[in-house]
Amino acid sequence: MTESDLVVQYLETIPDRRCCDDCLVKKTRIRPRSQLSRLCRDLAEQGKLTRKRGKCPLGDHTKMLNTLAAESARAVRGKAGTPAPDTLGIEDAWRYVDRFCRAIWVKHLGDDTPSSLAEAITALRDEELVPPHEANMMHTIRSLRNMVVHEDVNFGEHETAIARAAWEIIRVWAERRERQLWSATTTMCGRRAA
Ligand SMILES: [Zn+2]
Repeated sequence: MTESDLVVQYLETIPDRRCCDDCLVKKTRIRPRSQLSRLCRDLAEQGKLTRKRGKCPLGDHTKMLNTLAAESARAVRGKAGTPAPDTLGIEDAWRYVDRFCRAIWVKHLGDDTPSSLAEAITALRDEELVPPHEANMMHTIRSLRNMVVHEDVNFGEHETAIARAAWEIIRVWAERRERQLWSATTTMCGRRAA
């Protein structure tokens, strides 16, 4: 994955797909800052994002903001079939796993789904509906995402590598054992929640 992909992927995961260079430096760990700004200007020239001053949604500061263009967001996630881990932000991966687990639950255990994903994964493992290793990988994606959302952990290349590998382990199992539910989840997640 290139540094430009990292920028696009990160912008995909945040509200309004918009933030300033400083926040991007913090989240993508692309350094120095001048390198990040150059990347963003290149992406703007290619029409993949727009640059305009405004209030950053990630903090109380007014700066040059990078807003991901609608069509590059679509291009990133619009590829048919199961999303590739490269094009999947941690928030998207978490949402995908959450919906997939609920779908398994409804199929085998009925409509009364647990309120938390953690609970659902553990129960599905205990019911032997998800093998222990794949269940652990689901917990990995869940906890990585919670660190980003609740503890403000930087999601850099190492975290991306862990998430990607965990995702692959889940995907390989799911496509073999729960192919229908897995592809149904793709359809459910095809449109981004507003
Ligand atoms: Zn900012």
